[in-house]
Amino acid sequence: MTLRVEHKEEITQREVETFYNFCKSSVNTEVASYLEACVRCGLCAEACLFYMGENISGKIDPTLTPAYKADLLRDIYKENYTLLGRVKKLLGFGVKITSEKLREQVKLAFYTCTMCDRCTKVCPMGIDTPRLVSIVRGALTQAGLVPEDLAEATNTAIEKGSPLGVDVPTFLSRIDFISDEWEVEIPVDRKADYLYIPSSIELMKYPSSVASTAKVLNKAGVSWTVSTKAHEATNFGLFTQSREVTRELLRRILEGAKELGIKTIIAPECGHAYQSMRFVAPNVFPREWDMEVLNVVEFIYKMVKEGRLTLPKRVIDKITLHDPCQIGRRGGVLKEPREILKLLAQDFKDSVEFPEKNICCGGGGGVVVEHEADYHRQKAFLAKAELFDKAGVKDVACYCANCMLALSKSSQELGRDYRFISLVDLVAESIEEEEG
Ligand code: SF4
Ligand code: SF4
Repeated sequence: MTLRVEHKEEITQREVETFYNFCKSSVNTEVASYLEACVRCGLCAEACLFYMGENISGKIDPTLTPAYKADLLRDIYKENYTLLGRVKKLLGFGVKITSEKLREQVKLAFYTCTMCDRCTKVCPMGIDTPRLVSIVRGALTQAGLVPEDLAEATNTAIEKGSPLGVDVPTFLSRIDFISDEWEVEIPVDRKADYLYIPSSIELMKYPSSVASTAKVLNKAGVSWTVSTKAHEATNFGLFTQSREVTRELLRRILEGAKELGIKTIIAPECGHAYQSMRFVAPNVFPREWDMEVLNVVEFIYKMVKEGRLTLPKRVIDKITLHDPCQIGRRGGVLKEPREILKLLAQDFKDSVEFPEKNICCGGGGGVVVEHEADYHRQKAFLAKAELFDKAGVKDVACYCANCMLALSKSSQELGRDYRFISLVDLVAESIEEEEG
């Protein structure tokens, strides 16, 4: 199972046919209703961070409108499933897919859509654009046109167990290091009720949040463990829309968890990891996947509510919150981080009136690893930065390491001085302050 990397040569007829046939066979009643319903009102344009970012720079780019991202798929649908489309094809006016057209699909589906779902919330017809973009991504993956960085990270995840190449010996040495450095006990491969699965972004780039999660779990007094078999929470199958990859990576988690008798999985500060384990896994393994999945922020909130964890110390002055789309808007975990931050900060300033309309970090959906998307990610950050500036804050709490990475990168690249802080790190600090 290896994904083919996008090449720079002329796209072949075979690749075009694979793309076309995947799109055609992905149309079901739900997809057809979305493709039929668009009234070209353009409301979704102003909801999309990539369109908004260009707009802030004084440029209008209609190709960044969410509706446009599904246009080729819509044309293929019409050609196959509507009378007018069939007649047009018979008369020689069928869909023509050139190399340029297919390359544009790579830009539209991979570089300028994070599957954040914000456009869906404003669409008067309820069109789920990320669902349509995911079909285009899947078709490009089948055709062997996955952006190079994304394909390589996905292939590394399949081969070594993590997109950053964290294999079992590396995992164990990082756990040892974190355990020593932060003086926290981290049980490995024990029979337990809770399984905490970190993401390799945290292990390698934000190890303090792994230590903080361990401190929280220890403080809550639950029986928990990490696992060498289920040691990676991310699932790049979702980004490439490869069912095989998604299934294989989830299978490793399922088997690792079952061996240890796990009842609840604690998903880390990672948006798509939560999405894959909480919502995708029960559909991929409808009989076997019987475990509860809680994001670490949900777990903290639950423990606080039940009186098993107290956060009496305020550890930060003025702060706002960035919601990761896959945990917040799509996962519904919006109240919990706010309630926790109100306990931790002197002055919590929400940057949005309606939390479900918060703006994506610009690096979700795999965009942060794609170098060719850097320009678009930076533009999208302008839309995000406007929210921070309106709230008058420099410190931003995050509950996704991928968001933190994307926001920090864009902020630095654009010479801004925002500070992005892990929410679970603040929680651990509060616990320590209390102990101290
Ligand atoms: S899902 Fe998000 S990034 Fe993608 S088109 Fe919609 S608003 Fe834009
Ligand atoms: S908001 Fe909905 S109906 Fe309007 S253009 Fe966008 S996708 Fe089409």
